[in-house]
Amino acid sequence: MRDFTKTEEPMGGETPDGGNTYVIQEHQSRRLHWDFRLERDGVLKSWAVPKGPPEESGIRRLAIQVEDHPLEYGGFEGTIPKGEYGAGTVEIWDQGVYEALKWEDEKIEIILEGERLSGKYVFIRLKRGKENEWLLLKAVG
Ligand code: MN
Repeated sequence: MRDFTKTEEPMGGETPDGGNTYVIQEHQSRRLHWDFRLERDGVLKSWAVPKGPPEESGIRRLAIQVEDHPLEYGGFEGTIPKGEYGAGTVEIWDQGVYEALKWEDEKIEIILEGERLSGKYVFIRLKRGKENEWLLLKAVG
């Protein structure tokens, strides 16, 4: 979908496996959202979170899984040109490393250690929603 002749976003390429970084990019596109990306098997597993990741426990946020992105994409900040997919500005809102406690089809549990967020977070796939709809919540404690 992205036309790399028109945008400065990274294309991706050779990347090592086995990292455990994450990044959250604030994306002021047609609609403001936060792109939550977890490094996994050499790519960034990605969710768009319209209201942003919860910073306190007890808050649940819709997280819509989107296509995997190349690892290099996690370093991107800048402007996606008008007319291109996701046109608007991208800023890194948080970044760090995570530990996966559980990674299953319906549930992902992680411990974040980032600049802004820390602690346990859980992604739960919505059973009644569309297949790409998850809930993201910060666990208690
Ligand atoms: Mn986005």
